[in-house]
Amino acid sequence: MGLLAAGTPLQWLDSRKYNEFIKTQGIEQLLYVFQAASKRNNDPLLWGDELEYMMLDIDLESKNAMLDINHDSILHSFDNEDFPLCRINDVLFHPEYGRFMLEATPGKPYDGYMDEYIEFNMKNRRNLAKFKLDQFPTTKKKEKLVPISLTVFPRMGCEDFLNMENPWDHKNSVSRSLFLPDEVINRHARFPTLTGNIRIRRGEKVCINIPMFKDKFTPKFDDSIYERDWFTPEDQETLKASKPGFIYLDAMGFGMGSSCLQNTFQAPDIDKARYLYDSLCNFAPIFLAASAAAPAFKGWLADQDVRWNVISGAVDCRTPRERNVPPLLPKFNKDGLGGLDEVASKHVQKIPKSRYSCVDLYLGGNKFFNRTLNDTEVPINEKILKRLLENDKAPLDYDLAKHFAHLFIRDPISVFEESINQDNKTSTNHFENLQSTNWQSLRFKPPTQEAIPSNKNVPGWRVEFRPLEVQLTDFENAAYSTFIYLIVDCLLTFSDKINNYIPMSQIWDNMHTAHHRDAILNEKFYWKDSIDSLDFKSSKYSMNEIFHDSQMGIFATFINPILKHKGFIQSDWQELKSSKEHLRTYYYLKLISDRTSGKIPTIAKYIRNFIMNHPDYKHDSKVSKLINFDLIMACERITDFNNSRNEMAELFGKEITDYLLTNKLSYEK
Ligand code: ADP
Ligand code: MG
Ligand code: MG
Ligand code: MG
Ligand code: MG
Ligand code: MG
Repeated sequence: MGLLAAGTPLQWLDSRKYNEFIKTQGIEQLLYVFQAASKRNNDPLLWGDELEYMMLDIDLESKNAMLDINHDSILHSFDNEDFPLCRINDVLFHPEYGRFMLEATPGKPYDGYMDEYIEFNMKNRRNLAKFKLDQFPTTKKKEKLVPISLTVFPRMGCEDFLNMENPWDHKNSVSRSLFLPDEVINRHARFPTLTGNIRIRRGEKVCINIPMFKDKFTPKFDDSIYERDWFTPEDQETLKASKPGFIYLDAMGFGMGSSCLQNTFQAPDIDKARYLYDSLCNFAPIFLAASAAAPAFKGWLADQDVRWNVISGAVDCRTPRERNVPPLLPKFNKDGLGGLDEVASKHVQKIPKSRYSCVDLYLGGNKFFNRTLNDTEVPINEKILKRLLENDKAPLDYDLAKHFAHLFIRDPISVFEESINQDNKTSTNHFENLQSTNWQSLRFKPPTQEAIPSNKNVPGWRVEFRPLEVQLTDFENAAYSTFIYLIVDCLLTFSDKINNYIPMSQIWDNMHTAHHRDAILNEKFYWKDSIDSLDFKSSKYSMNEIFHDSQMGIFATFINPILKHKGFIQSDWQELKSSKEHLRTYYYLKLISDRTSGKIPTIAKYIRNFIMNHPDYKHDSKVSKLINFDLIMACERITDFNNSRNEMAELFGKEITDYLLTNKLSYEK
């Protein structure tokens, strides 16, 4: 979630006067980075993952599972008295948007193929969090605190979803949500300010309408919406913003309070980093669908399986004019200009997507790329484009310049008073301000001005893969991370031969498709017909075909070649099943294979089935407290590899379950 500078974050109305300054300075900082690091080469394939957890408070007596906002001090401990413990375990903890959230990464990046170490490291992170939470005295007789890696808490925003007394005896003036008290937000001033600034710039509360799953007794409207008279005009927006047949969400926390799994990879040099970014573009929607884990929001079953568009809407700071729609309440949002000042109001651009969305542009810079592939409507900041192209520090080529010129159409939404004056030769603060609040399915991460070719102590050019939904177990999270790593290694190893380009518009299309319920079983996605040809021809394929087809499938064209190159197999990944050394990697691959062929469910499907088959389910699409409690308990058992109720077998199938129950990680043997 970006840097956490100490200092005073400015409210939108005070910060907006710095917008142009920050953007201009940010670009100068970027130019110094290019000047320093463009010629860097031969960097190793270092990489890492980021896992997000929710801390839960489970009341075993009243049978309620709640988000836990009372133990965020453990982040402080991990940074201080428990830092040695983190270091020994090679892990790092980071703050996230939710006060109930933890993020954890390996302490130092992985180097190439890591076999079981990733899972072992993930397990250490979870164990440390558990260990710390266990040390807090609990107030109730039968109560426990646990970290859980669940993409969305199904009852977020419902009655008693937080372990807090009387959340509604005071106003939540930061988000002004009808459902989320401000106490869900991290206490660091950056987060509430960000929340307020997005709302004020937009000129309305954020508004997310998620299709509701329709069952026999599902009400026509989201009946959790209520009338309130705390805030003018926000409380008057509800009727206009919500829609029949949809779940209505109205706060940043619904999106940024969800958890994901991200992977960052270092490329040997800038050209390979650009190639890697471009080649991964279409993997993002495919893996969003392949990792689907979010079928319920705010106590309702949704008619979709993933979190993505919820976050997208939850941080959508665009004014109505930028979105090309009328304001909800014209009286309060004059000409749909939201919180723009007079000068900015004169240069409003139409912006098709939220700052959290699918990638916009290929970066180009390799022999396979053709400019016609960038075939979507992508506004750019012309002034920034010109500067990037024409300067005496490090002129960029058009395609790369366009990428940054697009990121810089956004305004800074988190400005610290103390950070306005920076030395552009050494700081990337202003550049990172825009870069780290453009949340796309991939992120192209430039290094810093320190990254001159001879300085290998600092990171080089990296690409981050961001679509994955977090999985319940360390086994699954290691499996998805390993799978993406193998694809990346394959791309970097055979970059001369693999052409994975299809038109960008088809990737946008795939991103929509990836949201659909059971997309993994029922949908078709654009996929390249052949990665060996110079053209950009694609067809629509099922997920099963995209992964398993013997000609163009991911296993045949990415996984087998790289495993062969490493000398792990002769021709097919399934040979790993008889390997002693890489047996667990076989099961990582098998998990993805079985899910994408529909043999075993995604977490989304597992959770949906659990809810719909629960005795307390009334065919009204509602997730009651009891259903939620039982679901969380099941999730916790699965996380702990406890199959006493056959839940692991339902999620993983018999073969994977048997393997997991009888084979410890080699590091633990
Ligand atoms: P952000 O939240 O900005 O994406 P984090 O610091 O949370 O950044 O995570 C960065 C990830 O990148 C971690 O998994 C870390 O291990 C990994 N990483 C660190 N250094 C490198 C490097 N040189 N190359 C690739 N990955 C790296
Ligand atoms: Mg994070
Ligand atoms: Mg992070
Ligand atoms: Mg990240
Ligand atoms: Mg091994
Ligand atoms: Mg092994």
